[in-house]
Amino acid sequence: MNDPKLDYINEFPVELVNPDISPYKTSNTGVDYIITLDSGLSGPHVFISSIVHGNEPCGALALDWFLKNDYRPLNGKLTLGFMNIEAYLAFDPLNPNRTRWVDEDFNRLWTEGVLEDPKRKRTSEFVRANEVKNIVSEVDYLLDIHSMQKTLCSSYDGWNA
Ligand SMILES: [Zn+2]
Repeated sequence: MNDPKLDYINEFPVELVNPDISPYKTSNTGVDYIITLDSGLSGPHVFISSIVHGNEPCGALALDWFLKNDYRPLNGKLTLGFMNIEAYLAFDPLNPNRTRWVDEDFNRLWTEGVLEDPKRKRTSEFVRANEVKNIVSEVDYLLDIHSMQKTLCSSYDGWNA
């Protein structure tokens, strides 16, 4: 986590506590931290991804809540994915920006051919993206949860509504 692009001031304190995701490492998909809940009935396969960026714990909070409450899809399959594990495990609420990624932005690896490029540097994110790409490519719908530590428009006071 030495990318100088991540050396910027954090404007707001982190008030959320990132959940312990270690119970989700061992999964039923063959890929660590990727869990599939299968209703056994036909229907769409939906994927909800979290922590594409290690400094965005809201998705992990949502998936942790979902799994702890043992919700299940009524039909089809639901896959819950914790994506950038190495960055998330390094999360530091006092300097959250540093753990956005380890080597590079996980979200910038999904252009066609990037993950198959044999000449590409095998960064932490490149390796993890290759681990999850097969299951991501087979789903019908994907919801990718991100969160922000700043408002888009600081003069808009509707955020507290
Ligand atoms: Zn993000």
